[in-house]
Amino acid sequence: MEIARILAPNPGPFTGSGTNTYVICNGEHAALLDPGPIIPEHLSAIEQAVGELTPVGVIVTHNHSDHAPMANMLAERLGVAAFGYEAGPDFTPDVLICDGDSIPIGAKELIAVHTPGHTADHLCFLAGQQLFTGDHIMGGSTVVIEDAAAYMASLHRVAALGVDRLCPGHGDLIDNAGDAVAAYIEHRLERERQIVAAVEGGAGSVQQIVDAVYEGIDPVLIPAACFQVEVQLEKLISENRLFLDRAATVDTRVVAPE
Ligand SMILES: [Zn+2]
Repeated sequence: MEIARILAPNPGPFTGSGTNTYVICNGEHAALLDPGPIIPEHLSAIEQAVGELTPVGVIVTHNHSDHAPMANMLAERLGVAAFGYEAGPDFTPDVLICDGDSIPIGAKELIAVHTPGHTADHLCFLAGQQLFTGDHIMGGSTVVIEDAAAYMASLHRVAALGVDRLCPGHGDLIDNAGDAVAAYIEHRLERERQIVAAVEGGAGSVQQIVDAVYEGIDPVLIPAACFQVEVQLEKLISENRLFLDRAATVDTRVVAPE
């Protein structure tokens, strides 16, 4: 299948250069993936890219404001259904899809792969040897996660697919897919080791762990880093690698095993 990438003009600290909207073509037929936020010039760019092709659907990887809000509007304008895992604040799928479901594009199909972690509703989409990864894997950066254990399991799931190319929701296409997924897994493991080491070194609160682990971080990203530490602590505590401090004051929450 041929793909075209249309960059939405919404750059920022969490979106990189902007959201990638994909036109996924099989001959005359085309599906649109992650139309992004409602931005008139982006809508025009997508419709121009569709041109004379026959649209077959608008697909959303997950309910985030930089991916989903224009989906219903675009689907209505093109006269096709909007596909997604579940409804969210800015998007109501016409067709609900879950793991293993397929969406035909002409005689070929996109297959949904449920990859919770970044969000619980996150889907990747397999098209032959290409995987559209939404915010599960980005080009050029790591992602914010809501559930560290689920995210790690989803990374292993993607690794097992053995695809050649990743088409992320942000950043450039990734041609060395296996290496990229392995690097993501290693990054997560390294973060876990850093957090455990920080706690062993005396850091007990989320803020102290952030100070130890995310040195030199852009101040605008500190709240996100705190959230990430919270999420990773949940996983480490569930695995008995760290423990909640029963005698905790407001400043100290976790301890390393004796
Ligand atoms: Zn997202």
